[in-house]
Amino acid sequence: MEEKSFFIKTFGCQMNIRDSEIMAQKLGEHGYIEGLSIEDASVVILNTCSVRAKAEQKVFSLLGSLRKAKKRNPRMKICVAGCVAQQEGRNILERMPHVDLVIGTQAIYDLPFLLENMPGKTAINLSDSYEIPRYIPRLNSQEPGNAVSGNDTAVFSRFVTIMQGCNNFCTYCVVPYTRGREVSRSVFDILDEVKTLVDSGVREIVLLGQNVNSYGKSNPVTSGGLPYSFARLLHDVSAIDGLKRLRFTTSNPKDLSDELIACFATIKNLCPQFHLPVQSGSDTILKRMNRKYTIQTYLDKVDRLIAVRPEMALTTDMIIGFPGETEQDFKHTMGLLDRVRFHGSFSFKYSDRPGTMAAALDDKVDEQVKSERLQLFQKRQDEISLARNTEYIGRTLSVLLESVQPEVARGRTTTNHIVHVELKGVARPGHFIKAEIYHAGQHSLKGTQVL
Ligand code: SF4
Repeated sequence: MEEKSFFIKTFGCQMNIRDSEIMAQKLGEHGYIEGLSIEDASVVILNTCSVRAKAEQKVFSLLGSLRKAKKRNPRMKICVAGCVAQQEGRNILERMPHVDLVIGTQAIYDLPFLLENMPGKTAINLSDSYEIPRYIPRLNSQEPGNAVSGNDTAVFSRFVTIMQGCNNFCTYCVVPYTRGREVSRSVFDILDEVKTLVDSGVREIVLLGQNVNSYGKSNPVTSGGLPYSFARLLHDVSAIDGLKRLRFTTSNPKDLSDELIACFATIKNLCPQFHLPVQSGSDTILKRMNRKYTIQTYLDKVDRLIAVRPEMALTTDMIIGFPGETEQDFKHTMGLLDRVRFHGSFSFKYSDRPGTMAAALDDKVDEQVKSERLQLFQKRQDEISLARNTEYIGRTLSVLLESVQPEVARGRTTTNHIVHVELKGVARPGHFIKAEIYHAGQHSLKGTQVL
């Protein structure tokens, strides 16, 4: 019998990474083996992102190059999944006739069935129902969290989806169109999945959603008849026996509640790290983006977070050159950078996304101006990141090891900083060790193991 193998290439956010894990698991349950290269796979899946024009261009460029790979390996089926698939649908098949299957963001659970029951040469499955099926992904025996001994590289941190979709309609964003409205997953399914992962050796869980702070709001997930908030979910997940570290992403600042801020004071294994996307330092631009907060309210929340957890490492997202952004608006963005001193940021030039309100605005910023502003922003952020990281020199930090080579290991701190550690004793992936930091770079730290 011919071997069924698959290769998944994932673009974009953590939600896509999690969806790729689910597709891999579903294919594994149907006898597919994960291959090491695109060329030899019988099924190639591109899990795509349409949040920025550049990411979408990369997808179409890779799809173009797969035409030749398919000629060399005619049994190859090419599947496009994710947000580009949801948004472009049939256009993909018209533009790229060598594609076999296009599936929307909610069809991932049916992938093996769709592959084996395609009505013709090509098929398309775009669901407009945004339910999250009752499916508890499990670790299989080849996954590192399950096999602590013998491995020198491992993943002990896993994503768990708690909600999908978004109701906010920021004017630049395609997510409400590609992922639909907010749907929260059942609390029982979430707790069940986290328990399964922790029992399999996972040490750290990252709760995932487009706007985690809205958990339970759109379709109330009740427990004992009581409303169930994201803060309450954090308490319940954090109490699972054996879970060492808990993180979450992402939050819209407008929904960051006092109840959530208080969690950082009371939940011991909730890591002091917060990704709080601000997108611009100008109130005028925030209004045009429909973000529904001001810089003052953002700063108030930042200050309160730091008051409850002084070691909090804050990161953010920034869009540079949104339509109508003036020199003055950009100065406010640079001012915010210096005021908050984010540990890191993801910054991008604004690009039009089809169907969004911002795409229809006519006061676009010149490409050259956008590039210059982005460069200035990133240069200042790099300086701040380095200065922030230098503050760790001389401190002893707890590091969860991800990979171990002879004499040197790599892991992460509670603040999610990468540390390269010189080992003085026995260490394994998945172990927690103490490291005294002696060097700081822009993106990582170096330390020595403290026995
Ligand atoms: S909050 Fe705004 S940026 Fe985030 S997913 Fe929703 S619409 Fe997009």
